[in-house]
Amino acid sequence: MEENSDGQSYTVTCASCGQKTLIVKELYSKVPRFGMLVLISMICSNCGYRVFDSVSLEYKGPERIEFKVSGPKDLSAKVIRSTTSSIAIPELGIELKPGPRSDAFITNIEGLLDRFADVAEQLASSSEGILLEKANAALDKIRLAMDGKVPFTLIIEDESGNSAVVPEATEE
Ligand SMILES: [Zn+2]
Repeated sequence: MEENSDGQSYTVTCASCGQKTLIVKELYSKVPRFGMLVLISMICSNCGYRVFDSVSLEYKGPERIEFKVSGPKDLSAKVIRSTTSSIAIPELGIELKPGPRSDAFITNIEGLLDRFADVAEQLASSSEGILLEKANAALDKIRLAMDGKVPFTLIIEDESGNSAVVPEATEE
């Protein structure tokens, strides 16, 4: 991810409010073993409409990525998630499906677990009884995983092939 360029920025008509206030930014990134990736963010300064997506310049078709996390160093691997991908961590009972409001994001695995921990926390704070126990159990597992104490497998399935997991050590 070292070879980021500034890419382009331009303003177009917003699909939501119809004003010419939608700022589109494109960032090009060369991802090892993945190829060129365009990260696109669109934010409307008038109505707040926003879209964030990643598009691979080399179409690969549907793909399934399995990344094994066996210790703390693996937690720094970068995760590029497109809007069409689902994420699952079977060992932690986690599954994230693509939806109409899902955002693409780039984070590392630790950051991804942090997002899931937030969701589990919210769930715990609004639940009671068996649901509360389940949410707390999930939270405990996620925290252990964030400390690198639980090995797990990150599985990303993407019908557009626009997602990637990039280990820190093999960056070019
Ligand atoms: Zn707008």
